[in-house]
Amino acid sequence: DPRLSGRGLVKRYGSTTALAGVDIDLGEEEALAIMGPSGSGKSTLLHVLAGVLVPDEGAVTLRGRRVERLSERERSLLRRGRYGFVFQHGQLLSELTALENVAIASMLDGEPRAQAQELAVQWLAALGVADERDRRPGEMSGGQAQRVAVARALVTRPDVVFADEPTGSLDQATGQDVMRVLTESTRAVGASLVVVTHDASVAAWCDRRVDVRDGLVVAPQHAVPADAVP
Ligand code: ADP
Ligand code: ADP
Repeated sequence: DPRLSGRGLVKRYGSTTALAGVDIDLGEEEALAIMGPSGSGKSTLLHVLAGVLVPDEGAVTLRGRRVERLSERERSLLRRGRYGFVFQHGQLLSELTALENVAIASMLDGEPRAQAQELAVQWLAALGVADERDRRPGEMSGGQAQRVAVARALVTRPDVVFADEPTGSLDQATGQDVMRVLTESTRAVGASLVVVTHDASVAAWCDRRVDVRDGLVVAPQHAVPADAVP
């Protein structure tokens, strides 16, 4: 069975149909890229799969558990404990240091402060940003901030990491560097990964790619050709 699946997903905003009946599977420890033009429904699909949005129709199943039937509170706990999130920018709290940003994610998942801080130190080191521990996001480079964001996403050892344009605010070389650490570290903890991107060089880091057009997965779900990997 897939780790996470969506079946017949429909999501409307008023008269706009953002998802028109999407079927999608995410395998165990698989990295999946979701591509498509602006407005095609990628972000909506990511938010529905992540339990941030509830679909109007269809089912989201995480390891046999029906996510869309959970209460708001249960979905919040699921997101904190079983999911990690990496966005384009801004997911780090600007008033907190790198260490505090990672530790707080662990504490929200129930870890006592001392253990959370210890885990945060370990994760910052694993992501190559140990020296940034006492810096706030505004005092780091964009690439360093995204490495801290990856540490924050992984500190709870999630089942699935969701990344929405994770390289969107970075230059090409830094973006490739962040994709390398994101895919390697996600695999190392046994998490599956969903990356929304419009950049083929970002998608190339994933095991598989799907294309979304007008709220539907259109292209056959094909493997990324090996020669597309940088
Ligand atoms: P993408 O991530 O591919 O750019 P989105 O999922 O953001 O696509 O949007 C899909 C469609 O749904 C678009 O037509 C968009 O304008 C619309 N949409 C997205 N979010 C909202 C919202 N909160 N309210 C109304 N329409 C929305
Ligand atoms: P709560 O508001 O119940 O505390 P959280 O904000 O802790 O829930 O949500 C858990 C995770 O879901 C966070 O890591 C957060 O980044 C992500 N998340 C919450 N809301 C959104 C959203 N609108 N879009 C994308 N991700 C979100």
